[in-house]
Amino acid sequence: MARVHNFNAGPAGLPLPALERAQRELIDFEGTGMSIMEHSHRGKAYEGVHDEALALLRELAGVPDTHHVLFMQGGAHAQFALVPMNFLGGRSADYIHTGTWSKGAIDEAKLFGAVRIAAQTDATRVPAQSELALDPGAAYVHVTSNNTIEGSQFHYDPDTGGVPLVADMSSDILWKKPDVARYALIYAGAQKNLGPSGVVIVIARKDFVESGRKDIAKIFRYSTFAAANSLYNTPPTFAIYLVRNVLQWMKSVGGPAQIQAWNEEKARLLYAALDGHADYYRAPVEKASRSTMNVVFRLPSEALEEDFVKTASKAGLAGLKGHRSVGGIRASIYNAVTVDDVKKLVGFMEEFARKNRP
Ligand code: PMP
Repeated sequence: MARVHNFNAGPAGLPLPALERAQRELIDFEGTGMSIMEHSHRGKAYEGVHDEALALLRELAGVPDTHHVLFMQGGAHAQFALVPMNFLGGRSADYIHTGTWSKGAIDEAKLFGAVRIAAQTDATRVPAQSELALDPGAAYVHVTSNNTIEGSQFHYDPDTGGVPLVADMSSDILWKKPDVARYALIYAGAQKNLGPSGVVIVIARKDFVESGRKDIAKIFRYSTFAAANSLYNTPPTFAIYLVRNVLQWMKSVGGPAQIQAWNEEKARLLYAALDGHADYYRAPVEKASRSTMNVVFRLPSEALEEDFVKTASKAGLAGLKGHRSVGGIRASIYNAVTVDDVKKLVGFMEEFARKNRP
């Protein structure tokens, strides 16, 4: 079997045991004579999977009783719009602007009310708490916890006083155990750390959900999903099934504490390789803002970057091309990427730098 070392930015590599389980169960799910995706979403078999996935999320993310866990659709892009649609309603919200995806959220919010930029940084860093100019009357504060394209990450939970904090955690959800109580709403597409694309995980405070507008279409209200255990309409059953498998794998290896230890080790190895060859590789993000999920770097020239990606791919190291908007190299080292995968990449980087001086 030839599985590559997968550094894709999302959709991204999934843990092999989660895929193997799906393979075993694909044709005949638990002796029912059909695949889980052929089951009714109102039947017992699927309901078991659905509830187990929700319960595992609650357990692994440490979600308190004050918060709902929801499965929604439309990707993080739908959340860019649904958050202001539900909670802005002509008021003003604070957005922390740190990259391409925060810009996406900002543009959608402008359709529903006023947007204040509480802080803005370039691609090299995220702002410190002391740089946040927050409006105490804001409807909410929106932050992108990890900037997937730029490779920067918040290493603190912003303090917003009493103002509800909303976070796009699409690219770092459960990279470690989050402090859920600090957030009014967390959203994340599953396709980086938790499963395939097609399902969005939302963790939202119950009273915040209840405060949402009721004069918008039902399918766009968080309260609809909360009241129906995320079974208001047909959910993406197979995607949720795979999320269940991924969460079960996470639990079996030791849960978020072990995942965090591996993630920190992977990031340490990769940044050490960059810093150790600073005459060749350039890591543009400031040390304090470096992402533990998306490691972004440059080579001495674009031609060398192109060659790096091509040669790496031939060596079984896939998905290293930077986002098309910024170029360069990006190694995404989400939860399913192993320490061994990263060691292989580091070995390749050292050899490439030795062999390919400009
Ligand atoms: N936010 C972040 C932080 C992301 O990384 C992405 C996807 N790369 C998005 C939003 C957009 O997600 P989707 O394609 O699921 O709408």
